[in-house]
This record gives sequence, C-alpha cells and structure tokens, in this order.
Amino acid sequence: MYAFDYCRVAAADEAIRALREAEDGSFLAGGMTLIPILKQRLARPTVLIDLSGIVVLGGIGEDEQGLILGALATHAEVAASPLVRRVIPGLAEMAAGIGDPQVRHRGTLGGSLANNDPVADYPAAMLALDATIRTDRRAIAADDFFTGLFETALAPDELIMAVHVPVPDLFAYRKFPNPASRYAMAGVAVAVTGKGVRVAVTGAGLSGVFRMTAMEEALAADFRPEALDAVPVPAGQMNEDLHGSAAYRAHLVTVMAKRALAAAR
Ligand SMILES: Cc1cc2nc3c(=O)[nH]c(=O)nc-3n(C[C@H](O)[C@H](O)[C@H](O)COP(=O)(O)OP(=O)(O)OC[C@H]3O[C@@H](n4cnc5c(N)ncnc54)[C@H](O)[C@@H]3O)c2cc1C
Repeated sequence: MYAFDYCRVAAADEAIRALREAEDGSFLAGGMTLIPILKQRLARPTVLIDLSGIVVLGGIGEDEQGLILGALATHAEVAASPLVRRVIPGLAEMAAGIGDPQVRHRGTLGGSLANNDPVADYPAAMLALDATIRTDRRAIAADDFFTGLFETALAPDELIMAVHVPVPDLFAYRKFPNPASRYAMAGVAVAVTGKGVRVAVTGAGLSGVFRMTAMEEALAADFRPEALDAVPVPAGQMNEDLHGSAAYRAHLVTVMAKRALAAAR
C-alpha cells in the first residue's frame, strides 16, 4: 500500500470540497473494495476522504413513493431492517446474500453502486426496481446510472447521498454465487412495477449489469417460468473467465431468472 493522507469529514459539502482540493482524492465508505485495491497497489490516491461521519448519508426510511436508503446503509442494515423486510422483502434477502458477515457489516449501498462491479448484486436489484440514485446535485435513474464495467454516470467529485426505491408489486433476486467470494457468477433480479416487468442481470454480461428486455417482453405476456424457455440468451454477449464459460453463464442466466420468478410469484 502506498502512503496517503486520511481526512474525516462531517458534511457532504466538506467531503466534496476535500475531494476537489486533493491532487487525487477518493471517497471512502466501507472500504471493502477500495482498501483491497490499495493493498494491491492498483490505485494511488493522495487522500482518502472518510464518509462515515456524515450522518445524513446513513439511515433507512420511506416516503409515499417507496424506500429511501442512505448511501452509508450497510448490507447488514438493509438485510435486518424491519422496514425493508416488510416493504421489499426480496431486497433484504438480496442484501443478506452479499459476501460474508464482515463484508456485510462494512460494505455500503453507495459504495457498491459507485463501484458498479460487474459481478455485484445491488446494481441488478436497483436496475430491476427502477430505483433513482440521488447525489449531492441531481437524481439519476438506474437506467442511466450504470454505464459499463466499473463505470457509472457519476462525475469524479459527485457524492451518492441516497437511493430511492419505488415499492414494486413483486420482486426477487437469485444468484449463482462464486463459492469463494459469493459474488454472482450470474444473478437475475425480477420486479413487477406499475410500469411493467423489469429483469436485470449481473455477473454474466460482457458490459456489466444489463436489462434483459427479451425476458421482460416474454414475462409481460406470460408471467410464468416456462415463458422463459423460448427466450434465447446469446452466449456471445456473456463474460468468460476461469470460473465459467460464456455458454455456462448464458445457461445460468435462464436458470436464475426462473428461480427469481418463482420466488417473486
Ligand atoms: C470478500 C468480498 C466479498 C464480496 N462479495 C460481494 C458479493 O457477494 N456481492 C456484492 O455485491 N458485493 C460483494 N463485495 C463488495 C462489497 O459489497 C462492497 O461493499 C462494495 O463493493 C463497496 O462498498 P464499500 O462501502 O465497501 O465502498 P468502498 O470500498 O469504500 O468504495 C468503493 C468505491 O465507491 C466510492 N464511493 C463509496 N461511497 C460513495 C458515495 N457515497 N458516493 C460516491 N462514491 C462513493 C469510493 O470512492 C470507491 O471508489 C464483496 C467484497 C469482498 C471484499
């Protein structure tokens, strides 16, 4: 790990100011991604700006439209929240399946979304749920937020404050976890909202998380797992690595989609 300065702030504008003033600063939330990156010397920030003292970034609440999850809400807090478990139980279940207890107690929603790891769970859940990511300066629809592998629509100095999640009629997420990391080899989130069926896939796509519109159209006509038998999942658009071939991942996408659908129903 290279040497860096550590800066603890108490307000969002303080964090953004510190980042702008830094030669090469980085926000620090749970550190579950950032610290391993630093240990492997894959990044060399001059300053880490610790967000954990910004009270308004924490908490889990609701308004008339749905849930409001603070950027610093940990995976364990989302999993255990009586509110989330009552309003969107499938989301609490998804959070409970992230990593291991240490990761769930440190890792945060905001960190997971900002990182947009192509094998992470939250991006698929938020895309399927048609969530809105609220930053210090604007609201970004999940459809516009995830722009590629580890890429988002966030500006370099933009801070995720909270995520608004409209309450769906149905929601479930299923993943085939890598046995070592618990990251998704393929994960599929299915939601039925007032606007229709939304299906989002993580872990498998060459370009990261994506909406599977062919499955959405099939399920809009026939909301049963069997309806997915007729939907091809092109292996050419799937990721291939030492953990699994593209054809295997394409197969997993259909299997996970059927499981998510069965759970949602
Ligand atoms: C062993 C292990 C297993 C894991 N398994 C899974 C898994 O099964 N599923 C899964 O989805 N994830 C998994 N993760 C990742 C974990 O969920 C992390 O929580 C997540 O990747 C990053 O969140 P963090 O709060 O730790 O962010 P950090 O590591 O602190 O930050 C990550 C990035 O986000 C930026 N950032 C953080 N907060 C904000 C904010 N509010 N606004 C703007 N930018 C911000 C940081 O600057 C940094 O670039 C695993 C991690 C580990 C180490």
